[in-house]
Amino acid sequence: MALVCAVKLLLFLWLFNFLPSSQGSFASAHFFYLLSLSLSLSKWSFKKIGCVCMLNFWSKCNPKPALPENWENRLPLFDVEAIYCGMCRFIERVGWDAKLVNESYPWIEKQIVHQPKLEPWQVALRDSLLDVGISPFNGFTYDHLYGTKVGGTIFDRFGRRHTAAELLSSGNPRKLTVLVYATVQRIVFDTSVTRPKAVGVIFKDENGNQHEAVLADKPQSEVILSSGAIGSPQMLLLSGIGPKADLEKLKIPVVLDNKFVGKGMADNPMNAIFVPSNKAEKQTLIQTVGITKMGVYIEASSGFSQSKDSIQCHHGIMSAEIGQLSTIPPKQRTPEAVQAYIRRKRNLPHEAFKGGFILEKIANPISKGDLSLVNTNVDDNPSVTFNYFSHPYDLQRCVDGIRVATKVVQSEHFTNYTRCNKQTVEKVLNMSVEANVNLIPKHTNDTKSLEQFCKDTVITIWHYHGGAHVGTVVSRKHKVLGVDRVRIVDSSTFSESPGTNPQATVMMMGRYFGAKILRHRLGRAAGI
Ligand SMILES: Cc1cc2nc3c(=O)[nH]c(=O)nc-3n(C[C@H](O)[C@H](O)[C@H](O)COP(=O)(O)OP(=O)(O)OC[C@H]3O[C@@H](n4cnc5c(N)ncnc54)[C@H](O)[C@@H]3O)c2cc1C
Repeated sequence: MALVCAVKLLLFLWLFNFLPSSQGSFASAHFFYLLSLSLSLSKWSFKKIGCVCMLNFWSKCNPKPALPENWENRLPLFDVEAIYCGMCRFIERVGWDAKLVNESYPWIEKQIVHQPKLEPWQVALRDSLLDVGISPFNGFTYDHLYGTKVGGTIFDRFGRRHTAAELLSSGNPRKLTVLVYATVQRIVFDTSVTRPKAVGVIFKDENGNQHEAVLADKPQSEVILSSGAIGSPQMLLLSGIGPKADLEKLKIPVVLDNKFVGKGMADNPMNAIFVPSNKAEKQTLIQTVGITKMGVYIEASSGFSQSKDSIQCHHGIMSAEIGQLSTIPPKQRTPEAVQAYIRRKRNLPHEAFKGGFILEKIANPISKGDLSLVNTNVDDNPSVTFNYFSHPYDLQRCVDGIRVATKVVQSEHFTNYTRCNKQTVEKVLNMSVEANVNLIPKHTNDTKSLEQFCKDTVITIWHYHGGAHVGTVVSRKHKVLGVDRVRIVDSSTFSESPGTNPQATVMMMGRYFGAKILRHRLGRAAGI
């Protein structure tokens, strides 16, 4: 996670420092940002999640997807139309330049994205999805198309992950300054002018020493915030931009009263169906995805018990190591509690973890929440509420998705593969409730109500977004409204999470805005 952001930020730096020295020297001096490559897992469970092994799946949200290869032979015309209707509308809605978007995705893909070697668990998912009607099969593609497809991965065939940090190799190291383990505390504004303008940032280094970085007094100088859906609204609030009453309560000097900062936070609910297996399953992350017309995406992961020892491994999104402890309230999820849990889990029965999960994610949740500061310490996470399923349409889609996921588990592709008998829906749901990790009290025997199941077993798929929306907090150029020299380029500006999984679009956005800014400043001389 840290790396995604890191390089997204670095892309900007690079873009401004990439030019031949005659043009580039001015650019490098008045562009500044900081990033954190913190890998700590303790209280940063949200904001500074570190390098989590689940981060993997690459799936775009491009304006006009390419048709599957040889589509003329494979698809009747009405299917082709259906595919185009299924294209991701996100880019259209945000009004980005489709041509530049289509150039920016491959710029990243060429450097870090790979075709996965499809694992048997993911093959079983592919065949089951097609069996239950999530068709056509669109093959291996990064594009967002109705039906079933295999997406990309940032792991190569040797199992090495290629993160956004590698995009730095396209930059000019002589013109980049990267501060790692540096935490921005606030943006400093000059409020003596009619319109507040950013003049720098205060940050602390890895030793806790405080510094101020001052922007050069040039028209192009700006601070670009890219600290994510939790970090960017938090940073605006800490810097005095937000609802006046909230800022005053914490004695933060008000730079700009904007009631929309921290509002409209959303997290796509994820619910998982546990699939038991009679054999050890290899660990697989997401490779296959079903894109349904009901606004639900179906994905899968497997292999939490390859061996008797594997329960001791770090299992990413489902794991205690990232602080998602089912039995401990959030405030008590200290590093010590995590360590104690890791020690205890060695005693858990190996059989209980055989198999894998079918995951369903609700696209574009209508339920929204908000973010507010708890105190003025940047190291403390703000309070975030997502209000999962507060809108009945989200709950309805979850129920529909669970019905599909249950059929997938019951399909003979899975029963044959896992060597398990077909289970009743009740049994499947009961096992899933028991395998679930969240703090919500469970209704193990109430799985007849799929609504209850959805509410009881909801967890995050880590695609949270919002809090600094276009139109209310930032302009279409992503400049913070009402002040000068601050821009935000990250998922806090999204009103929906693009595509089945957002990292492709988040990274593309870094390249896109960098190119836009550079073109605006330099025109043809930008060379991109
Ligand atoms: C466990 C997990 C698995 C995921 N798997 C996938 C996947 O397989 N496919 C996919 O498409 N998406 C995946 N995602 C989602 C994807 O990673 C996010 O949508 C994306 O990273 C959001 O990018 P961002 O730039 O908005 O924020 P982030 O990537 O969160 O970047 C924010 C950065 O800012 C830093 N920061 C915050 N505050 C400060 C501060 N005050 N000073 C300095 N630095 C600060 C943070 O440390 C972080 O590095 C996953 C997410 C998680 C957590």
